[in-house]
Amino acid sequence: MKSKDFQFKVGSRVNLKEFPTDDTGSFDGPEEASPVLEKKLGRIADLQERLYAEGKQALLIILQGMDTSGKDGATKSVMRDVNPQGVEVTSFKVPSKEELGHDFLWRVEKRIPARGMIGVFNRSHYEDVLVVRVHDLVPKEVWSRRFDLINDFEARLDREYCRVVKIFLHISKDEQKERLEDRLKDRTKLWKFNPADLSERKLWSAYRDAYEDALSKCNTEHAPWHIVPADKKWFRNVVVADIVEEALEDMDPKFPKVDFDPRAVKIE
Ligand code: AMP
Ligand code: MG
Repeated sequence: MKSKDFQFKVGSRVNLKEFPTDDTGSFDGPEEASPVLEKKLGRIADLQERLYAEGKQALLIILQGMDTSGKDGATKSVMRDVNPQGVEVTSFKVPSKEELGHDFLWRVEKRIPARGMIGVFNRSHYEDVLVVRVHDLVPKEVWSRRFDLINDFEARLDREYCRVVKIFLHISKDEQKERLEDRLKDRTKLWKFNPADLSERKLWSAYRDAYEDALSKCNTEHAPWHIVPADKKWFRNVVVADIVEEALEDMDPKFPKVDFDPRAVKIE
């Protein structure tokens, strides 16, 4: 598996219907994927320790997807073994009055991980070209300018110190139906059910169009999108772990050199 398998050509137009939601790669089932995932989680934990110790670079993982696509689940599973001290997860909700008083990137800027940290965005600045567009929350002249602003913003992060990894969790409409039904059936999941999700579901094709635009226009060399088949949770987890592992490997964080000789240090 390679993260490139889930990317698409920069400058090309995405048609989400051409991307499978239920693919499971070379795995026959979860039993086969489980040891692979375990190994990846161990490696991610190892690399995160180095990233934190090095304190020079950061990794930002952006998770987007329709309701129930598994943004929370992927965060929980892929960050399972990392030191909580080195990770900051931000879930972006409907903006507050104060946030709306600023430009759309203001609240996002404040949550960019510092050097040494991994940041996870559960939803992100992409909501400002998705839900905002679908619900006409700002005029078209405003949201349509944001694609360039987003590309500039992400290029700046990448050029400074922060790798940006963007993941779209791709589920089918049928799978969403099942997951919403599961939430209704299970007392421990009921709190996640939001009756408003049903009206969002009715806007499925408007969201798909908005996603196709956002994915196509903001797919750059420095911050490419990954379209991950997410109908099977176990496969989604192993792919997201793989993408994160590969990014960290490529960043190659190193334990810092110290400017003293540890053999010469005497502790009385
Ligand atoms: P959840 O992810 O289920 O906790 O829901 C968060 C809700 O906040 C979703 O319905 C998002 O569409 C909404 N949301 C997030 N960012 C924005 C934004 N910039 N403008 C409007 N709604 C947003
Ligand atoms: Mg929700």
